[in-house]
Amino acid sequence: MALMDRSLVQKVIERLSQAKAPALFTHLRPDGDAFGSLLGLAHVLKDRGQTPTLHVEGSMIPMYRFLPGSDLVQEIPDQFPTAADAFVVLDTSTRERVGKKTVGWKQPVDVVIDHHVSNPGFGSLNLIVPEIPATAGVLFQLFTTAGWKISPASATCLYAGLSTDTGSFRYRGTNAQTLRIAASLVELGADPSEIAKHCYLSITKERYHLKKLTSETLSLKDNEKSGFLTILPDFYSKSGAKSEDTEGIIEEVTSIQGLEVASLFEFGSDGTLRVSLRSKGRVDVNAIASPFGGGGHRAAAGIRFPKDAEKNRDLVLAAISRAIADLKD
Ligand code: 5GP
Ligand code: MN
Repeated sequence: MALMDRSLVQKVIERLSQAKAPALFTHLRPDGDAFGSLLGLAHVLKDRGQTPTLHVEGSMIPMYRFLPGSDLVQEIPDQFPTAADAFVVLDTSTRERVGKKTVGWKQPVDVVIDHHVSNPGFGSLNLIVPEIPATAGVLFQLFTTAGWKISPASATCLYAGLSTDTGSFRYRGTNAQTLRIAASLVELGADPSEIAKHCYLSITKERYHLKKLTSETLSLKDNEKSGFLTILPDFYSKSGAKSEDTEGIIEEVTSIQGLEVASLFEFGSDGTLRVSLRSKGRVDVNAIASPFGGGGHRAAAGIRFPKDAEKNRDLVLAAISRAIADLKD
């Protein structure tokens, strides 16, 4: 159990054990690691006789409905649930990313479990392990240390989180320990090919259409070392896709040879701008996102702007150009 502070881990185990009805949350626009961690933890706590509630802004995304227990996921209530006796947040790099409705809540966050290097630690207990490439992997280590049983249902959820956040064990950060965790999860009942079928080999035609519209906007700059995509509000009405269908589009751009940084700018109909940044590893996109109030990891980060979309897009593109100009080659 290297990489994790033993006394902190013990405190997290005690705090989670004390709660009869912990309320579990993750980040807005949840991905595979968000749902996998949420459900993976819920199964373990339920097997221990606790009654967790699971809350996500926007509820369950259809693509992840195959995860065991997905029907437990509820929309975030207006107030922190009165019956809950612990506020637990998973895979979420900032307090704001728990969801719009929760931002004004007085209730302090009790436990944060995460792997984002940019996480400031906004809970009373903060188990943040950037050396493990998915929150699901942090949870696996936690359960193993606690001696808590991981059922096949929990193993399936955790494996899905680990697999999706490592890009199917391809991204930097995937190491021998990651694969050992994956192997243990398979021994505990996760089925890699079945999980891959749902996570990677099953897209709706609406998602395919959105991807096609977006791909056509590709613009290369900085001597073809960076490229960006644009999503305009009417792409959704044209394709019939939903906002979660943007996941994965940017990865294809990142794979273009010679490219160092890929970005995606999603313009909202209300003047907002959502930015996704990806790097092959030489440029630190977390460092590009941070001054704008965003964050994430070295190779994948994001930013959200409430207004001035075009101006902010240009500022981010300028920051990318500077980072690329700074590369020595
Ligand atoms: P994505 O581009 O897939 O939305 O996000 C990539 C990574 O950046 C994820 O690890 C995500 O948690 C982080 N991220 C995305 N958007 C934001 C943001 O607005 N603020 C912060 N702090 N992190 C973000
Ligand atoms: Mn994650």
